Amino acid sequence: MDTEALIEKLQDLGREGSEAFGACERLEDAIQIKNRYLGKSGQVAELMKYLRDLPPEGKRDVGQASNAAKQSIEAAFEGRVSQIKAAELARRLEEERVDVTLPGRAPSVVGGHPVQTVMWELIDLFTDLGFDVAEGPEIEDDFHNFEALNFPADHPARDMQDTFMFPDGRLLRTHTSPVQVRTMLAYEPPIQVISPGRVYRCDSDITHSPVFHQIEALHLGPKVTMRDLIGTLTAFAEGYFGVGTKVRLRPSFFPFTEPSAEVDIGCVFCNQAGCRVCKQTGWIEILGCGMVDPNVLIAGGIDPETTQGYALGLGVERVAMLKYGVNDIRLFFENDLRFLKQF
Ligand SMILES: [Zn+2]
Repeated sequence: MDTEALIEKLQDLGREGSEAFGACERLEDAIQIKNRYLGKSGQVAELMKYLRDLPPEGKRDVGQASNAAKQSIEAAFEGRVSQIKAAELARRLEEERVDVTLPGRAPSVVGGHPVQTVMWELIDLFTDLGFDVAEGPEIEDDFHNFEALNFPADHPARDMQDTFMFPDGRLLRTHTSPVQVRTMLAYEPPIQVISPGRVYRCDSDITHSPVFHQIEALHLGPKVTMRDLIGTLTAFAEGYFGVGTKVRLRPSFFPFTEPSAEVDIGCVFCNQAGCRVCKQTGWIEILGCGMVDPNVLIAGGIDPETTQGYALGLGVERVAMLKYGVNDIRLFFENDLRFLKQF
């Protein structure tokens, strides 16, 4: 092939090559086409094999024609690639368009935790009966948790088996009664408070959790008697478990009250006919109470000659278990949504 024929061939290839990208829509097709012309064994390279047979000036002219052909194919390739990329971008923008008018996905909503719900209900009930809410620290000292509440030095509750102790002698309160002590020390009677909150004991089985919630009530005044205690117990039982709910007191013993009583309510599940929940007795144990021991009043800076009163304490989880028919206290603390969603 002579110089002129070669130059003509190259010009033809340049035209043909730059038109070859016209219809292709995919990047890989464009690359393939480009390689067909400009690759190592592409059509341009094939023609250049004839270069060695040409005279020097022919080599120069053919070299220029070859560069021109390469440049026009390269330019056509670049042009097509940017069109393909623009089309791809437009397609993705269309496909992945976010409709901002669509409603958002709602988070999984669970009603209040059953223990919290019962807590609020009980606080409402007692505040309706005239009680104020008092709070205190969960880390207590021996004086407020035991000594001021008339626990003898050798009382088993002071044992580390039952109480979470810190090395310095402080402890996690085992009941909310220390709040009663703090209230007595801070305020003059009459006093009428409830102390709701978390308490801790080294204990864990289906009816005991190492952390649980209590609400205690303390009512002190010059003329507060056992009759007021029974009135409050009845108002609580009827207010929470329904009008006509019976209340029964059984003598018991607590260090901080004298006399002391365990309180049962008539079984709300069987109307006292006897069932599994009340173990066929017709009664369900619900709380402990009593008249505040004079030693506790004295420790709280109150004169037992002029002021008396009662205290009562109940476990919030116990009430929630009865209300919702839950038979394992630990379910309240596992935070399993399948459990919590039922309430
Ligand atoms: Zn029953």
